[in-house]
Amino acid sequence: MSSTQPVVIIGAGPSGLLLAKYLEQNQIPVVVYEGDPHANHRPQGGTLDLHEDTGLLALKETHLLEEASTMMRIEGEAMKVVDKSGKVWLDENVPEESEASADTKNVPVGEIRGRPEIDRTDLRNLLIKSLSPSTIKWDHRITSVTALSPSSYQITFVDKPTITTPYLVGADGTFSLVRPLLHDLKPDYSGISMYELEILPSNLTPALEQYIGKGALIVLDDGKALMPQMNSGRKCKIYLALKVPFDWQKENPLPDTNKREWLVNLFNGWLPQAKEIIMASQEDSIGQRKIYQFDPELTWDTDKTGVTIMGDAAHAMSPFAGEGVNQALADALLLGQTLVPLFRPQPQSLKSASLPPFPLSLLPISPPSPSLERPTPLVEPHTSDLHKALRGFEKKMMLRAKVEMKGSKENMDMFFGDEPARHLAEMLTFHGRVGMVLGWLSWPVDKIKGLFSP
Ligand SMILES: Cc1cc2nc3c(=O)[nH]c(=O)nc-3n(C[C@H](O)[C@H](O)[C@H](O)COP(=O)(O)OP(=O)(O)OC[C@H]3O[C@@H](n4cnc5c(N)ncnc54)[C@H](O)[C@@H]3O)c2cc1C
Repeated sequence: MSSTQPVVIIGAGPSGLLLAKYLEQNQIPVVVYEGDPHANHRPQGGTLDLHEDTGLLALKETHLLEEASTMMRIEGEAMKVVDKSGKVWLDENVPEESEASADTKNVPVGEIRGRPEIDRTDLRNLLIKSLSPSTIKWDHRITSVTALSPSSYQITFVDKPTITTPYLVGADGTFSLVRPLLHDLKPDYSGISMYELEILPSNLTPALEQYIGKGALIVLDDGKALMPQMNSGRKCKIYLALKVPFDWQKENPLPDTNKREWLVNLFNGWLPQAKEIIMASQEDSIGQRKIYQFDPELTWDTDKTGVTIMGDAAHAMSPFAGEGVNQALADALLLGQTLVPLFRPQPQSLKSASLPPFPLSLLPISPPSPSLERPTPLVEPHTSDLHKALRGFEKKMMLRAKVEMKGSKENMDMFFGDEPARHLAEMLTFHGRVGMVLGWLSWPVDKIKGLFSP
């Protein structure tokens, strides 16, 4: 394909895979090194809601939205908010009359907020399938990254030969090993520890299924959260979250047997469904994790030229605003759009042709796509151009992410603060109303289909 060195991406999560896809569709050589031995090595977690201006846009720009839409569940947006006594503060599963628009009458709020759900595993598999088979190097866990010079990086792996590259992207998540090349800060423990459980379809009784609803049930009280969420195929993922000190899970380890009973005890005195939900889960697949987050004000500068980071590696945030994946996909798109013109510069004649003379230049025309059938020649980017472009990318990324990092933190404080169910229900109701009134949060199926058109 070329004589330039490939862009090296560490991590086959959503951001690494989407960037690889964007570069491949622009015929820029790329390789992804992933620590997992293969694609199905571990479950990828629960369901994600994709947002219009970030996750959905990134899928559209990589021509994956149409296929992704076949896996999306609009009904999965429905939320039900309950407190420990069983009082239901909000239930979007119930159709609501809208006063704002005749179009939305009799449509459940969950169907029009415009944030369709997709299983994490489906999203990852879709991205993997879209790449050339040799692009992802599975079973390549990196152990260190060293800058040999400001524009050359050495990467060492577990039991694999060392490589060097001038173009390095850290998409390796919250505990990134690439990040220390750029700055020394680490994400902080958020104060929230979690358990992850799963109910198989065969164990999901009709009564439980009805109680949980079509999307997510969120039971909040006493600095604790019980959050079952429906995934595709009637699988139900459960997150149990506790506001506890960093060492709490270590000091209170899950027992070897009767794990579910032990977890039920954490929710003593809660509504009877709390026990039923936990006891319906699989004893042998209970996982635990801590939630980390960066300070929303995080920024950095560096003299390194050809390295950057994105996604959780750049701006890990708590999951309580459902933004992490959306930001990660938006980062990947932005970085792709930053890199392509450096590797495939437009000839001067095309550049000037893209800017019609006044007054035509005021018209909203799209610039010529870099992924033309006959792309411009591939070049090694000039070092100073690359440096400037990557620092610009990082600034834009962090400016966008900062808003969501703040929002995620505020939501987390609300989930584990006073009267959380009431506050969450009020917030969701407000957003539902605002969305209906302004229309900018309203994304019925036909609008999503509209995104497919070029
Ligand atoms: C419990 C929980 C629930 C969440 N729910 C949501 C949600 O509802 N909505 C949402 O938008 N976001 C959610 N998130 C956040 C979301 O999962 C992340 O923001 C998103 O996955 C970040 O994507 P990424 O590509 O940056 O990194 P990751 O998804 O973390 O991918 C990093 C990849 O790098 C690989 N890797 C790591 N270290 C190495 C190494 N040393 N060598 C080689 N490979 C390595 C990993 O194996 C992984 O494949 C949730 C997160 C958690 C923890």
